[in-house]
Amino acid sequence: MSKSKQAILRFYNTASRSIEEFTLPKDVPAVRMYCCGPTVYHYAHIGNLRSYLFEDFLRRTLEYFDYEVNHVVNITDVGHLTSDQDEGEDKMEKGAERTGKTVWEVAEYYTQAFFKDIDLLNIVAPTLWCKATDHIPEQIDLVQKLEAKGYTYNTSDGVYFDSLKFDRYADFARLDVENLQKGARIDMGEKKFVTDFALWKFSPADSQRAMEWPSPWGKGFPGWHIECSAMAMHHLGPTLDIHCGGTDHIRIHHTNEIAQSECATGQTFARFWMHGEFLRMGESSKMSKSSGDFLTLKVLLDQGYHPMEYRLLALTSHYRNYLNFSFEALDSAKDGLRNLHRRTDPLIGKATAISSDSALKWQHDFKSAMSDDLNTAKALGILNSMLRSDLDDGEKSALVLDFDKVLGLQLDKTMPEKAKQSSLATEEIEALIAQRDQAKAERNFIESDRIRDELANQGIKLQDTPQGTIWESE
Ligand SMILES: [Zn+2]
Repeated sequence: MSKSKQAILRFYNTASRSIEEFTLPKDVPAVRMYCCGPTVYHYAHIGNLRSYLFEDFLRRTLEYFDYEVNHVVNITDVGHLTSDQDEGEDKMEKGAERTGKTVWEVAEYYTQAFFKDIDLLNIVAPTLWCKATDHIPEQIDLVQKLEAKGYTYNTSDGVYFDSLKFDRYADFARLDVENLQKGARIDMGEKKFVTDFALWKFSPADSQRAMEWPSPWGKGFPGWHIECSAMAMHHLGPTLDIHCGGTDHIRIHHTNEIAQSECATGQTFARFWMHGEFLRMGESSKMSKSSGDFLTLKVLLDQGYHPMEYRLLALTSHYRNYLNFSFEALDSAKDGLRNLHRRTDPLIGKATAISSDSALKWQHDFKSAMSDDLNTAKALGILNSMLRSDLDDGEKSALVLDFDKVLGLQLDKTMPEKAKQSSLATEEIEALIAQRDQAKAERNFIESDRIRDELANQGIKLQDTPQGTIWESE
């Protein structure tokens, strides 16, 4: 019996606002999965990285359930204006101004920085990374198709999609289009309707842009939305099985992707739409250790955290819920990872077959959690309970490796050096030791043992000497 027959995958589909059973059409051999990638004009914020972690949990789960996945992620290395309304500055050119590099150098530099973050977080690389600047002909081709079908009009600054010609435009994001139109009359420029959007922008006649290409409409550059439709359909065909992105993309970017793709092909663009919710920055993270509001993975690493601690933090909350980021939460993840390693490190190299009824039951429970719209927090709980159970070490070891195919916490290796460092400050450790001394003086040995164990979990070893308690950190 194949694994995929044992549990049915269920995912929340933004298109229907409901949990649906995921299957592949009979003639499709691999999951056609497209995820919106980064605009490479700056480092990725840890909030952006949470989205890629969610997509990694999804990709790994599909593979765990024996699906092959054809996973495509784009790199936006051209254009992408700072506002969704096709106005404002070009993010790439802004990045070039800020750094004194050319736009091409900016794109290359931040693409490499992004790849490094992905690698550090143990995110499986997609089957294909594709760059917008490598797909200009495909984008022009798609705009021409829409033009030939009468879905476009030209203004003095570009070719626009005529959103009123697509009946279902408002459906995906449940937009109240009439009210939007009433509210936005002033800053629409030459657009006919508020939800119309640029497919191709003309270069200004009086200045040379850093990135521009010839087209049937003269020199210019593609709109942001057309890039994703063109690349997704070029590499995966007119219909995708899963399209992912952040919830911020629902209203405009994904709505526009659907409009232009479905008008061009007459087919459903994506069968499942899955969206990761935001990371919310708590007050403490703004005030204490962060450098302003812009928290990158590198900032976390510079402060002594390990990438797996951030990965574990992302696993503790469901991808459709806000994750409140704070350094306290990250410290808890640090403790969580250390506690996991205390149990998994001694199991390394001991894996046997997973064959007993109780081992199979743990595996079944883990699968059920992940098949339930990626319930990663529950899956982690099952891992922890399994490790505390009386299962023999061989099967425990095998289950750790099995679960880690999805969790990706690198539990096949011993605890990283960085994770060994206690998150407790010296004063906190000493306060706990004083409490323990007090408990001992009161002959409350249950309490004094509890404190000793709590410190041991933090990697703090105590030694009672005639001069008092001394402690050392692992
Ligand atoms: Zn996109």
